[in-house]
Amino acid sequence: MNCQQHHITELFKQYAGLQQNSLSRPDTAQQHAANRFFKRLLDRFHRETDVSVLLRALPDPYFPLGMLEQTIFADVVGMRFFINKRRWDLGPILSQELVEWTEAFLMIRQDIQTLFDPNTITCIPVDGTRHSLPSGQWCNLCGVCCQIGGVPPDPPTGVVYPDHWFGFLAGETLENQQLCPFLFQYFGEPRFFCAIHNIKPVSCRVFDREDCRQRLEDRGLHGN
Ligand code: SF4
Repeated sequence: MNCQQHHITELFKQYAGLQQNSLSRPDTAQQHAANRFFKRLLDRFHRETDVSVLLRALPDPYFPLGMLEQTIFADVVGMRFFINKRRWDLGPILSQELVEWTEAFLMIRQDIQTLFDPNTITCIPVDGTRHSLPSGQWCNLCGVCCQIGGVPPDPPTGVVYPDHWFGFLAGETLENQQLCPFLFQYFGEPRFFCAIHNIKPVSCRVFDREDCRQRLEDRGLHGN
């Protein structure tokens, strides 16, 4: 199959589907299939630096493949106009957005390891092990509240963010930000968590159950 005949959106979604299945229910055949599609996806990128970041970020068990499917690579349907993410002229832009996203993810992942305590920064230790996520709370970790273009980047008292976090949080660094880059996914499952939950910005800390209800009612910008 000539992967050049396939749109980047198609290639990403095929890989993302297989990789999420493989992460959530580890299985050798699934992993082989995911690896084949991963190679086809990587073949679309010609700069060594781009391939390098994609190789490191996309297979990471916390990379939010499912959220990118629902945002960057989802058609926009909830406005007066429609944006088809399989349009050929959008291919280069979407490829670039994917690279930028993976770079941000790797940077945040590294910051958590080196500048904070990865065992206590969020609801589970971020060490690549399947620690149980919290349960029995009103938040079901759907991640929709973090499908946003930015938040006021005010840290809680006593916490100092690295300088580049301000742009990531405010939505001023990534082009066309539709999702907070601090949102991580849990091993391919449709569950998402804030990677900096215990030090997240004040505006995120005050988001409550009623805000959640309204946000779910208002969603609808993206289709498939
Ligand atoms: S900082 Fe955390 S809670 Fe706030 S929008 Fe980003 S992922 Fe969501």
